[in-house]
Amino acid sequence: MRETENLIVGLGIAGINLCHQLEKTGKSFLVVDNCPTNSASLIAGGIYNPVVFKRKLKSWKADELVPSLVESYTELDERLGINSLLHPFPILKPISSKDEVHEWHQVIAEGRLSPFVESIEERKPTGPFTDEVIASVTIKSAGFVRIENLLLAYRKYLKQKGFLIKKALDYSKLKLKESEIEYEDVKAERIIFSEGRYISENPFFNWVPFKPTKGQILTVKAHDSLSADRIYNQQFLLFPTEEKNIFKLGATYEWNVLDEVPTKEATEELLSKAKKTLNVSFEVVEEKAAIRPTVVDRRPVIGVHPEHKYLFLFNGMGTKGVMIAPYFAKQLVDFIYNDGELDAEANLNRFLRRHYKKD
Ligand SMILES: Cc1cc2nc3c(=O)[nH]c(=O)nc-3n(C[C@H](O)[C@H](O)[C@H](O)COP(=O)(O)OP(=O)(O)OC[C@H]3O[C@@H](n4cnc5c(N)ncnc54)[C@H](O)[C@@H]3O)c2cc1C
Repeated sequence: MRETENLIVGLGIAGINLCHQLEKTGKSFLVVDNCPTNSASLIAGGIYNPVVFKRKLKSWKADELVPSLVESYTELDERLGINSLLHPFPILKPISSKDEVHEWHQVIAEGRLSPFVESIEERKPTGPFTDEVIASVTIKSAGFVRIENLLLAYRKYLKQKGFLIKKALDYSKLKLKESEIEYEDVKAERIIFSEGRYISENPFFNWVPFKPTKGQILTVKAHDSLSADRIYNQQFLLFPTEEKNIFKLGATYEWNVLDEVPTKEATEELLSKAKKTLNVSFEVVEEKAAIRPTVVDRRPVIGVHPEHKYLFLFNGMGTKGVMIAPYFAKQLVDFIYNDGELDAEANLNRFLRRHYKKD
């Protein structure tokens, strides 16, 4: 029997951040993950943005989440020796109506988005923008994390340490004992599930109300000159890859068809949104789609099972796994080991009354 304190199921952005916090605090763990070639984390843009443009508000808990993510991904970068995982890039948000210019002036005057947005540029920004664009704001403390690089490097790291069990966990083989759990040849003090959208197959937590969202992202080649020193955000996100003139363009939102198949319609949607703002001709190099694990109230869902005290959940990263996972992984580890508190908005308990039925 292999003995460990924590058995983690699922190695995406959520699982990696959990492992990282456990390792930092000197706690032992093993991970079961089937290492797919496509998943939300593998294709995620990796963007973190402390501002919700639609409502011109700070993103939920942005003041706490941004410093936490910068710390965690910098540490992971050092641990894995990836060198350049985290890219703090400004987000340029083009503005195309006078009303919107006025609204932004108000937001800035009230300091609602401080320190992330401090001013508005009332002219067309330099670059290949269409005549629709009349002004812009720039968001500071934003950027992106090269999540695919992180995930592939982290799988390798765990494999070298002998911490990765590469297979799909069969829930029916899980044995819940008096004071521990057993899974095949592993004995653990607890199991933490972070299977993303596959929570629907987890018999212990499939009652948690998720509303998964399919998303598509493109890799495109820009045939016209386009600065690679920022993220463009205007109902689409466009940001540079490590290759010259090659950018990522994302992402779509689809709630009805939940497969991982890229569609022509989604590609067209992304290209036509980009075309409205940028006078750039793009060639599609690659199309990818996956499912985001989104909860009905769009908050993460973490905590302990109401009846089985050795079963934990770390999921619901939704559209913002990059920002949310570092802060809440720390919180969950603190909850488990130091009796720390869970944020009420993220705590699994919020769904107990309406959604959990005792066996
Ligand atoms: C197109 C697109 C663009 C996105 N862009 C961004 C972005 O720019 N910024 C951002 O913050 N977020 C973005 N997201 C959202 C982000 O991808 C998610 O928040 C995040 O990836 C969720 O991570 P996760 O670890 O919870 O789930 P996943 O990435 O799905 O990982 C779960 C893992 O668990 C494994 N697993 C499941 N069940 C089992 C089992 N029984 N046994 C073993 N293994 C199992 C899965 O195979 C997988 O490896 C994007 C998503 C999409 C689809």
